[in-house]
Amino acid sequence: MVQGLRAAGLKLTPQRLAIVEAFADDATHPTAQEIFERLRRRLPTMSFATVYTTLDTLAAAGLCTVRALSPGPARFDPNVAPHGHAVCDACGALIDLPARPARAATSLPDGFVVRAVETIYRGTCARCARR
Ligand SMILES: [Zn+2]
Ligand SMILES: [Zn+2]
Repeated sequence: MVQGLRAAGLKLTPQRLAIVEAFADDATHPTAQEIFERLRRRLPTMSFATVYTTLDTLAAAGLCTVRALSPGPARFDPNVAPHGHAVCDACGALIDLPARPARAATSLPDGFVVRAVETIYRGTCARCARR
């Protein structure tokens, strides 16, 4: 992601680097608030707005994806390769699934060019199902 920042011509400010470090290898799809909480102790002067704006900048540069698959605030996904998700209706958890090979859909509008096929399974995660 750091290389991507450079390639996109974005300045590597200490705050941007800290935010990238805080979630680049994170498969839990954290919210901006969760990333803010993680960094609060180390960077007490950083505001929530800075975290949010930086995540927005990363998303605009294609270095992460914004996911709004469950109720509540958007979650940020550092995995920009096409992949599917299992979404828990109870806690909103997003779990990554490997991408499936694209199958020709019969219901696509004429002339629609497919870039990626992402599967979403909705249900209950193991932790919530035990409750
Ligand atoms: Zn759950
Ligand atoms: Zn994901």
